[in-house]
Amino acid sequence: MTTVAAMSAEALPAEFNPFLAMAERFETASDHLGLDPGVRKVLKTPDRELTVAIPVQMDDGRLEVFTGYRVQHNFSRGPCKGGIRFAPDVNLDEVKALAAWMTWKCSVVDVPFGGGKGGVICDPRTLSEAELEKITRRYTSAIMDIIGPDRDVPAPDVNTGEKHMAWFMDTYSMHVRRTCTAVVTGKPIQLGGSKGRTEATGRGVMLVAREGIKKLGLRPEQCRVVVQGSGNVGGIGAMLMQREGYKIVSISDMYGAIYEPKGLDIPEVLAYVREKKRLTGYPKAQAIKQEEQLSLDCEILVPAATENQITSKNADKVKAKLVIEGANGPTTAAADKILEKRGIIVVPDILANAGGVTVSYFEWVQDRAGFFWTEETVNSRLEQIMSSSFAAVDETAKKHKTSLRIGAYILAIGRVAEVYRLRGTYA
Ligand code: GLU
Repeated sequence: MTTVAAMSAEALPAEFNPFLAMAERFETASDHLGLDPGVRKVLKTPDRELTVAIPVQMDDGRLEVFTGYRVQHNFSRGPCKGGIRFAPDVNLDEVKALAAWMTWKCSVVDVPFGGGKGGVICDPRTLSEAELEKITRRYTSAIMDIIGPDRDVPAPDVNTGEKHMAWFMDTYSMHVRRTCTAVVTGKPIQLGGSKGRTEATGRGVMLVAREGIKKLGLRPEQCRVVVQGSGNVGGIGAMLMQREGYKIVSISDMYGAIYEPKGLDIPEVLAYVREKKRLTGYPKAQAIKQEEQLSLDCEILVPAATENQITSKNADKVKAKLVIEGANGPTTAAADKILEKRGIIVVPDILANAGGVTVSYFEWVQDRAGFFWTEETVNSRLEQIMSSSFAAVDETAKKHKTSLRIGAYILAIGRVAEVYRLRGTYA
């Protein structure tokens, strides 16, 4: 999607370093809170960074060693929580930023977790099912000492899903010699997964869109939507938004993008992607370049793919009135300023994509209670949390006269700082 993503962290220009991007917003929000310099240091620094070697015997008999990370940013508010991604461009700075974003995200929606994130440097497209399983199991055992239902609870992220979580849960359970479902979320329903978890992030995107268009005085039928990404977040988000009455005019995947000004039939597009494994060649729309998506005429833009998509180079081309960040970190800090100056409202990642971790919280609660909820209960509790969190962020932003992003950081950091104050510094 972008060549930037393929660079190592050291080679990245500062604008594209996700940890620096997080730190810049952190400092701005901390200034608003008048946060003590020492507390800032504590809250900015990851509690723990673990790098592990993952030796795997490949299908051709060769031994390969993969590198994996787990970063625990902060556990003041509860066990660390956050996904595991499998991608060739995973690097420690990215995992550190993503772990910090999880701390703020859990705090924005007020679920009792801190933030963590993990990743393995690998290209899943080149790996067999057996190799993926070996990587997942060996990674699990390598980080075994620092995870657990009360310590750190992983989940799916980019290129990981239910089956990886099933392998993760099984490996952990074999080590602790009992079936322990609450060690990981995003599992298949049969293994203690929650109803509604697969759709939760996309559903959250749809729910914050509902609140976002109220601010603009628009109804769904009046909104054309451009979605970047067609996976768990973009694809499902687009489908649920279409159901609400929005017109989805463009969607993309890692290979290309399509455009149909009259509106796409998203269930049909997703069925095509499932069958062909890519969007390319979809017959009922015009093929366009991914970078053209950002400048398409629309009311809402949903970046739901990877980091660093809206940058200082292209933020002036965005035509949307509302940006809903389905991905983590799709907008750089430099681009924030341009969008803000242009009056474009951005619903920030730590609020917009928090539906996933919210239902992960429900899954963890259900596993620990051994009592499972109906899909209606899950969805209505998610809706209640997303709309009240949106209102809390909006109110904080208004009070401090900031963007929604800085409002969300102020709310999140303020809550973590308060817990830190109450707990004190153990010496
Ligand atoms: N990977 C997702 C995120 O970035 C979900 C994390 C979770 O459910 O723990 O929010």
